[in-house]
Parts: sequence; C-alpha cells; structure tokens
Amino acid sequence: MVKFSDFAQTLQSSDIAALLKLTEQPEVISFAGGLPAPELFPIEEMKKVDVAILEKEGRQAVQYGTTEGYVPLREEIAKRMKQAFFVDCKAENIVVTTGSQQALFILSQILVNKDDTVLMESPSYMGAIMAFDPVCPKYTEVPTDDKGMIPEELEKILASDAKVKMIYVIPDFQNPTGITWPMERRKAFMDIINKYDVVVVEDDPYGELRYDGEKLPSLKSMDTQGKVVFLGSFSKIFMPGLRLGWTVANPEIIDKFVKFKQAVDLGTSTFGQRQAAYFINMFDLDAHVTKIKALYAKRRTLMYESMQKYFPEGITFTYPEGGLFTWVTLPAYMDAKEMMPKVIAKQVAYVPGGIFYPNGGNANHFRLNYSNMPEDRIVEGIQRLGEVLKEELR
Ligand code: PMP
Repeated sequence: MVKFSDFAQTLQSSDIAALLKLTEQPEVISFAGGLPAPELFPIEEMKKVDVAILEKEGRQAVQYGTTEGYVPLREEIAKRMKQAFFVDCKAENIVVTTGSQQALFILSQILVNKDDTVLMESPSYMGAIMAFDPVCPKYTEVPTDDKGMIPEELEKILASDAKVKMIYVIPDFQNPTGITWPMERRKAFMDIINKYDVVVVEDDPYGELRYDGEKLPSLKSMDTQGKVVFLGSFSKIFMPGLRLGWTVANPEIIDKFVKFKQAVDLGTSTFGQRQAAYFINMFDLDAHVTKIKALYAKRRTLMYESMQKYFPEGITFTYPEGGLFTWVTLPAYMDAKEMMPKVIAKQVAYVPGGIFYPNGGNANHFRLNYSNMPEDRIVEGIQRLGEVLKEELR
C-alpha cells in the first residue's frame, strides 16, 4: 500500500469523473459536461497555422519558453483585454497559463493559508473548489439571487470575518447558474471590497459569449486599487484542448504567481501559445467568436423553449444571456442526484447541483449544458428529462 500524503488521501473518485465517463458514450444525450461544440473547431485553419509556425520559427517554436509566456500572444491578449473586457493593460501585466484552471490553483497557493476563508458565490464552479482544496481553506458561501452575489450579504461576512483572503467570483454567465451580475451589483461589489484587505479573483471564461443584452464592464476594468485578478481563457472562444488561459494582475501578484508557476510547469506549452497567436494573426478570431455565438444562442433558446414546453409546473430554470449553462431548480423535497439513475436510464445526463456548493446541501438543483449537443438531441433530451420530472413531482 502506498502511503499517500494526508491531502492525497482525501481525493476520492468524484461524481464529476463518473459523469464525464458517461458523456463518452455516443448514445447518451449529455447536458453534463461543459464541452464546446466540436464542429466549430477551426481544424483546416489550424493545419495552415501549424505549417506556418514550423516554417517561420522551426526549432525555436518547440524550445522551452519563459514562464510568463510568449510575448506576441501576451500582446494579443492585452488588445483583447481592452476590446472585450475594457481593461487597460500591457503584456507585462499578463501571464499565460495552462488553462485558467491552473491560475485558480496557483492563486490559492500564493494567497491562502490553511483555515483562511475563501468566499464564493453560492453555488460556484466546482472546478474552482477542486483547485482550492489543497490549501484546506474554510469556504464561506455568499448568498446569491437572480442577479448574482448579494452585496449586503457580502458586506456582513467581510465585516465579521477577518480571515477572508480571497473572493472568487464569476460575474458573467456564471458556471453553474448562467446568471450575470447587472451593473449596479458590480458597482456595489467594488465599493464593498475596496474597504477590505482582500484579493478578488474574477473568473471570466464566458464573457465574450454574450447572445443578448448589453455588454457589461468587467470588475477588473472598475478596479482602482489593483485588488482584482482577472482570469481569461481560450477554451470557450477557441479550443479547450490547447489548454491556454491568462491571468491579469498587479505587478506584486504577477511576480509571486510567476515564481510559483515555474515550480508547477516551467511554462505553458510554447507551441500551443504560438498556435493561438498565429491563428489570431492569420485568421479572424472575432469572426470565429461570432460564429460560436450564433450557434450557442440558437441552442440556448431551443433548450429554454423546450424546457418551457416539456418541464412540468413547479420546476424553474434560468434564462442565460450568454455562456454555456442553464440552472434548474426543483421543489425542495426533490434530490437531483437521487434522480440520476432514472435520468440515465433514459440516456440523458446532467450534473446534479449539490457539487457546486463547497459546504454541501442544495440537492434540488441540476446544471444543463446547451453548447455541445446538436439541436434535435437538445429537444429530445429535454423531452425525456421532462418525463422523469413529471414522474418524480408530487
Ligand atoms: N473557470 C470556469 C468558471 C470554468 O467554467 C472553467 C471551465 N469549465 C474553467 C475556469 C477552466 O477553464 P480552462 O479550460 O481555461 O482551464
């Protein structure tokens, strides 16, 4: 028997792993993962990109690079930060990461001690909980409503807990709820956090995928004290398999972040970073994002209308203005995890909501993804889900 570390001993095979296994079976209509639509991956363009990289840079393209990342890509990201997120920054304020997932891990490692408090929206992205768990923080869930985090609740918690080190938020098209914070919530949030000695991690992999409504400024763009760390990702606007994300932060945080990242992986894939940078130069990433938005908007609307049609009274669900997910709330006596075998028997999959709460509970929700399944399967899957819901409803 291997004597694993105390932390490793806490690692159990997760619900999510079992679910992801399910999504691999082609006959299952899976609304479980957060997978982009593969038919939109720009494969023909990437063939040209790869040849161009190797012809232009040859061996340099596969040599080790700096931990901060490939400068031409960081310059492109700086332009994107301005155009899409209203943030003025330069390449030196940016580190390219191995997905934004890596940034979540590194930030908790450099900011949080055991038993310090991490605040998150209730519910929040379960991958962030996974990334923060190794530092063994205390999680305090900040209550949310249909406009996101409730400022008064946040203020109460900050005023009463001096050990809050980090606040993790997803203001745009949240995973798992699909909810977006309106402008007044963003302002109220910034007014509150400016009074406390905390770091805010603004995770925004979906911000560019808005299907209706007005684009809103990122928290980072409203940050006058260097308190907000912004996380971006190429996973949903380009291809997740390249594992490319980025972190924008003040110089003090960037410096520690880079030192820590060096220990983790020395640097993000040098070839992968060139693939993104060359694609942006040779093709039109904005036009690509427009195509993604058109398809996902259609699927979002179709899923929403199908839920209206096939879900019984008493079940509520969010209308996301962007992103990849909608959030379904069942009456309090129902348990989405216990209902799973019946759902799976109909060859449909979702993620039961409980895992998005770091302190557990809240079994009467599930998350649905609408980006990955073609339209006919969305309608069919929601219809089958509706049948199970009707059977389960008292
Ligand atoms: N944050 C959130 C809110 C996410 O939904 C995801 C992906 N599901 C990530 C971070 C990680 O993304 P990446 O592929 O950039 O590591």
